Amino acid sequence: MFSHSTPEQSACQVKKIYSNNNIALVWHVKNMLEQQGIEVETRNDRLYSVAGELPVTECMGEVWVVSALYYQTAERLVSEMELASLPEFDAWVCHACHEKVDGTFAVCWNCQAAPADPAVGASE
Ligand SMILES: [Zn+2]
Repeated sequence: MFSHSTPEQSACQVKKIYSNNNIALVWHVKNMLEQQGIEVETRNDRLYSVAGELPVTECMGEVWVVSALYYQTAERLVSEMELASLPEFDAWVCHACHEKVDGTFAVCWNCQAAPADPAVGASE
C-alpha cells in the first residue's frame, strides 16, 4: 500500500475564491473578475432547479479562479467588492443589551433599541 495518489493540484491550479448562497452575488463576482481579465468558472450555480432538495450549506454557489497566478489579485478584488457593496448588512452589537444583531434589522431584535451613533457613544 505504498502507491501515491496523484496530486490533483499539480495538474489543476484552480482555486476557490468566493462562495455565497446568493447566486446573484456569485455571478456578480464572476462578471467582475472576468472584466479584470481573470478567467474564472462557477460551480453550484444552477441552484434554481435543485433548491429545496439540498441543505443550504450544499447550495453555496462558488467562483473558482482558473489560474493560481491570478488568485491573489482576484482575492483582493473580491474583498474590495465586499467592503464596497455590503456595508449596510454588517452585524452590529446592541449598546443596550450587547446582543449581536443582524445587519438587516433596523433595531435590536432583543430589546428594540436603535443602533447607537458611534460618535455619541464614544464620549463615555
Ligand atoms: Zn438590545
